[in-house]
Amino acid sequence: MNGPAPDRAAKTAVALVACPDYDEDRVEAALRRGVDLLGGIGRFASAAEHILLKPNVLTGAVAEKHVTTHPAVFKAMGRLLLEKGVHVRYGDSPGFGGFTAAAVKSGLAKAAGEIGIEMADFSSAVQVSFSEALIAKQLVLAREALDADGIIGLSKMKTHGFMRVTGAVKNQFGCVPGLRKGEYHVKMPRSEHFAAMLVDVCRRLKPRLNVMDGIVAMEGNGPGSGTPRPMNVLLLSADPLALDAVFCRLVHMPPLNVPTMKPGAESGLGTWAEDTIAVLGDDPARFACPGFKVVRQPPVPFDRSFPYYLKKWITPRPVIDPGRCQQCGVCSEVCPLEPKAVATAAPADQNSPPVYDYRRCIRCYCCQEMCPHGAIAIRRPVLSRLIHP
Ligand code: SF4
Ligand code: SF4
Repeated sequence: MNGPAPDRAAKTAVALVACPDYDEDRVEAALRRGVDLLGGIGRFASAAEHILLKPNVLTGAVAEKHVTTHPAVFKAMGRLLLEKGVHVRYGDSPGFGGFTAAAVKSGLAKAAGEIGIEMADFSSAVQVSFSEALIAKQLVLAREALDADGIIGLSKMKTHGFMRVTGAVKNQFGCVPGLRKGEYHVKMPRSEHFAAMLVDVCRRLKPRLNVMDGIVAMEGNGPGSGTPRPMNVLLLSADPLALDAVFCRLVHMPPLNVPTMKPGAESGLGTWAEDTIAVLGDDPARFACPGFKVVRQPPVPFDRSFPYYLKKWITPRPVIDPGRCQQCGVCSEVCPLEPKAVATAAPADQNSPPVYDYRRCIRCYCCQEMCPHGAIAIRRPVLSRLIHP
């Protein structure tokens, strides 16, 4: 790698560049500008290296829903690398279903075909030891993510029920193949433990560059069923934590209420503090969105051993809107518990939505995340709202 690094004066650089829409030329120009602000593509990849692009493909959804990284952002990054003679592949492991179908539906497969980059195979997993881990000393990760010379993360600016926001740090969780992701939820139901594991995954994979597609973000019931919200920005940084912190500030979310921030900073993944981050490019004040719909309170403490009344009165729970539910059963399929804590109704009652067993539910919100019809919301009990208005 080569090229001058920006003068950070001991600060972490985050590039913020305006981009009004997904017109391919405008996206490419904005992305090039952002990369140049950070010192140029040569800082992040060299000719003949093998670089993995890691978009956010939570599930198979058309680009217009803004669940997934937009193909125009993906394509622009691919082009930048290819013209430098870099070997590029791309991959992710969706929360439900296969990546190939999800890549086709999201438009990424078409974009990849147009510029000539191949799909990586994330089905082959490797168990790796990580002695410096905060919590996950053994990690199971996609072989292709580990074998690449470097990773460039292409996250999407979205809300997230469990982690409050999903961005550069959480994006690397998609390098944990398939159902293994559910196992982490079962082993680490506490938000602080799960966040520490996310930090471990990101530290182990060390993405060289993190890009966030915030041209149209997702607010509200994210990460799969929220509402598109134009934010008109791309964010880029070598520091995934700083990038997520800038996203937080744009939407007036206290960064420390995002559970990955504290373990991320303490373990050396990056920095979240405002006075340690230099925002390069356009003025963040132009893109501030105080009305962005995101839960700004920190996650409510939860432990499986809590008495039921605590879970019932304090811990937010997933609730199905019967008017939207299509009885597809995805919520039950993705529930990581066995037996499931949300089960389809008895055959005699086939038109009813699935039923929750809230006594067993660990509040991982995987069902809310993956419901393809936006029928599940996270409801905060009254007491929880009194504690954190
Ligand atoms: S995933 Fe959503 S639509 Fe499908 S059964 Fe569950 S609640 Fe209903
Ligand atoms: S019912 Fe939903 S929130 Fe509860 S454990 Fe299952 S997937 Fe997680």
